[in-house]
Amino acid sequence: MGNPPTPPPGYWQASNGQCSPPPPAPTPPPGGKGPAWHADAACRETPDVSFFPAVGTSSGGAKAVCARCLVRAECLAWSLEQGLDLDGIWGGLTARERRQHRTEQAAGRR
Ligand code: SF4
Repeated sequence: MGNPPTPPPGYWQASNGQCSPPPPAPTPPPGGKGPAWHADAACRETPDVSFFPAVGTSSGGAKAVCARCLVRAECLAWSLEQGLDLDGIWGGLTARERRQHRTEQAAGRR
């Protein structure tokens, strides 16, 4: 088992080494605030759940939080805008699942 992935710069990491959005935005607009949807992110209330699980560990806890998150769609859209190299669980999907999602979206547009 390797080290857990490093969250994007500026992202929150708990003292126990678990990382979690949210998330200040990676490039906060002038005024220093992230996107408005961050305020409603369910993961703000779950600091003990890792959204950056190490390889070979379960992402089930994070996905369960995302499943009840009011801003899941906004989070997923944001994560897709960041590119497919973004680590972690965003919008209830792993990086691999986001790549698959993007592929399916592209296929649907043809
Ligand atoms: S969808 Fe998941 S990662 Fe995104 S804001 Fe909600 S709880 Fe956090």
